Amino acid sequence: MQQSSSRNYEFETGIYRPPSEGGSASLLLRMTRNCPWNHCTFCAMYKSEKFELRSPEDIIQDINVMHEIYLQLKKISMQQGKEGLITTKIFDQFLKKAPELYFHPGISMLFNWLAVGGKTVFLQDADSLIMKTDHMVQVLKHLKTTFPTIQRITSYGRSRTIVRKSAIDLEKIRRAGLDRLHIGLETGDAALLKKIKKGTTPEDHVKGGQKAMKAGFQVSEYWMPGLGGKTLSQDHAKNTALILNQINPHYIRSRPFTPRPGTIFFEKASRNELERLTPKEQLLEIKQTLDALDVTSKVCFDHAGNYWPAPNGRLLLSQSYEGYQFPEEKQNLLGLLEKGIEHYS
Ligand code: SF4
Repeated sequence: MQQSSSRNYEFETGIYRPPSEGGSASLLLRMTRNCPWNHCTFCAMYKSEKFELRSPEDIIQDINVMHEIYLQLKKISMQQGKEGLITTKIFDQFLKKAPELYFHPGISMLFNWLAVGGKTVFLQDADSLIMKTDHMVQVLKHLKTTFPTIQRITSYGRSRTIVRKSAIDLEKIRRAGLDRLHIGLETGDAALLKKIKKGTTPEDHVKGGQKAMKAGFQVSEYWMPGLGGKTLSQDHAKNTALILNQINPHYIRSRPFTPRPGTIFFEKASRNELERLTPKEQLLEIKQTLDALDVTSKVCFDHAGNYWPAPNGRLLLSQSYEGYQFPEEKQNLLGLLEKGIEHYS
C-alpha cells in the first residue's frame, strides 16, 4: 500500500493573472489577497472578497513549501534515472505519495512551471506594490535565491500606489527582482475615470507610469476600448492616446469593455440601459486611439475580447503577447483595422 506523506505541503494560490503570464506558464505567488481599492464599477474580480496583506514570513513559507515539492519531484526523477527532468509521470508518482495535494488549486500550476524550467513568476493579487517595500524586497530576494532559474518576475500595480511609492523604494524593488508591472490604465479621460470610480486621475496615470519606467520596470498599460459607450467614445480615444504618449510604456494592451456579472454595468445591460459600442464602432474607436499614438511601444490584442473577424474569416488582429511594434507596424495595423471596419459596412 502506498504511504501518504506526513509533510505539510500547504501554500496559497489566487485566481487571477494576466493572459501573458499563463502563456509563459508562470509561477503564481500570492503576496496579498484581493484588491485594496475594489471600487471600479466595471470590475468583478475581487468584489465579494476582503483585501488582506500577507506577512513576509507566510509568503516565504509558501516559497519554501513549493521548493520542497520541487526537491521531492527531482528526487523521484533521479531515482527513475531521468536526471532531474520533471515529467507528468514523475508528477503522478509524487502525487501518490502526497494525495492531499490532488485538489490543491495551485499544484498543477506549480508542476507546469517546474516542467517548463521555472522561468517566470507572477505576484498575486491586484496590487502587490501596496506591501511595505522592505517586506517586498525580502520576499523577492528569497524567491530568487530559492529558485535561481527565475528570469522574470511581474505583478499588477495601481497607478495611485506607484505614485505614493518613493522613487528610491521603486528602485529597491526593481533591483530585488521585480521586472514588469501590469497597470490598469483603462482610460486617460478624466470624466470617464471618475465615472468608473477608478480612484485615479489622468495625472496619476502619467506620473505613476513615468515613475515605473524611470525605476527601470517593463511597463504594460491596459486600456479598455468601448468603456465610455457611444457618448464618451471620442474623448476616451483621444485622451487615452494623450496619456499613453506621455508614458510611452513598453506594452499597450487592449482589453475591450464587456459588462461582467456582479457589476453595475451588467445590471444596466440586462435592463437594456447600457449604450454599448457595436463591433464596428469598437474598431473605429481603437483606430482613433492608435492613430493618435506617438510611442515606441508594442500594441497587443492578447485577449479573447479582441475577437473581430477579418474578411477571410480568421481573426483580424494577432493575439500575440508581443503584439505590433510601434511606430514600425503602426500603418500596417491601421490598415488591418480599416479592413475590419469595411467588413462591417
Ligand atoms: S483596481 Fe483593478 S482589481 Fe481593483 S477594482 Fe479596480 S480593476 Fe478591479
